[in-house]
Amino acid sequence: MDIAVIGTGYVGLVSGICFAEMGNHVTCVDQDINKIEALQNLASPIYEPGIETFMERNVQAERLKFSSNLIEAVRQSELIIIAVGTPSLPSGEANLQYIEQAAGEIGRAMNGRKIVATKSTVPVGTNEKIRQIIAGQTEQPFDIVSIPEFLREGSAIQDTLHPDRIVIGLDNRELEATMVELHSSFTDQIFVTDIRSAEMIKYASNAFLATKISFINEISNICEKVGADVTEVALGMGKDPRIGPSFLNAGIGYGGSCFPKDTKALIQIAGNVNYEFQLLKSVVEVNKAQRYKVIEKLKQSLGQLNNTVIGIWGLSFKPNTDDIREAPSIEIIEALIGLGARLKLYDPVAMGKFKDSFDHPSITWCANALDAAANADAVCLLTDWQEFKEISLSQLIYVMEQPILIDGRNVYSKEQIEGAGLHYYSIGRPEPI
Ligand code: NAD
Repeated sequence: MDIAVIGTGYVGLVSGICFAEMGNHVTCVDQDINKIEALQNLASPIYEPGIETFMERNVQAERLKFSSNLIEAVRQSELIIIAVGTPSLPSGEANLQYIEQAAGEIGRAMNGRKIVATKSTVPVGTNEKIRQIIAGQTEQPFDIVSIPEFLREGSAIQDTLHPDRIVIGLDNRELEATMVELHSSFTDQIFVTDIRSAEMIKYASNAFLATKISFINEISNICEKVGADVTEVALGMGKDPRIGPSFLNAGIGYGGSCFPKDTKALIQIAGNVNYEFQLLKSVVEVNKAQRYKVIEKLKQSLGQLNNTVIGIWGLSFKPNTDDIREAPSIEIIEALIGLGARLKLYDPVAMGKFKDSFDHPSITWCANALDAAANADAVCLLTDWQEFKEISLSQLIYVMEQPILIDGRNVYSKEQIEGAGLHYYSIGRPEPI
């Protein structure tokens, strides 16, 4: 199939590459000329394991190209996938400005029958709005499809090539065979439904996962007070297949470009039809408070933080990505600077993006994890990168001013900590070890 993907962010770029990998001819379009120039030089503007190999292979096979010319890409394609951003407005509602702009441009470019599919996460009813915008620009026939995206940053290529399920929302059943065939090379777990339900499935899924995280974080706070160990509790709970073991890792809460914005948007979607989503409001509040556990534990171990030196391990919102959108690290670092701490920051891949959006005279940028720990009064682990899990903890006491380790992601086992000579604080586990 000839496909145009509008928006080459984490979703659009990865989807475009993977559709090309399956033998389709894909043009990835973006209005950001710098991104397109980088991509034309085979440099990925995002960090995602394996992405450049896949990109190179498909460009060389002439199945994949990058362009800033949306009109040409739409004209050459039967399927146009919208994958632009839907960030939060100050009210929490999804900002549909990029969606509306893309829909208008697609409408103006149409030169024959097209299928327009939305992968961006959009409130229920948005695909209907897209239909109206396009219809307002063209006499050409077209169909609208919703294909919400479930990939996870950090494993986006593998998630796209081997998804657990694909949800396709459509109201013209004649399209079903075409859309199912296009996706059947990825999986046979394809769920076809109506457009509004598909739109809601995406928000409901993210809200449910966020709820699981805030639930285990609240359990962890109670564990700390009653002397239970949340990692044991989660293991025991997860053995029940009705609960399942995933998303039960207590820590400093969720971040990223999806859960925070999608939970807030769903609260607004409900509010717009006079429904107060009480449970989800609590999930959001619990998540916000959870970030401050790190500060609480620093104060517990060091007293006041003015003029202390704190090493920070991890800036991205999760490992294997350079994405720092809504990362817990941002609020924690701002709060520590406000309390007068001097910070030594290290992240394996996200330092460049972090520095571009946030810098301060109290920050020193470090070359590696041990460098960030050197002469520090405490180290806080904020992202569970593999490299932090593998670090030799016994080395830390030799480089640090005070051997205090705050593990915001519960990455170290009792065995790793015992004998390391550290004062170790984690989330929801008996402490200090
Ligand atoms: P992103 O911000 O990384 O990328 C969006 C891209 O769209 C940008 O490069 C921007 O320049 C481009 N763009 C905006 N308007 C355009 C236009 N009119 N024409 C051409 N390009 C345009 O966003 P993302 O993280 O890829 O997310 C995209 C959507 O997918 C969002 O709705 C998000 O909620 C959803 N989603 C994201 C993830 C994720 O893990 N990032 C997962 C599932 C769903």
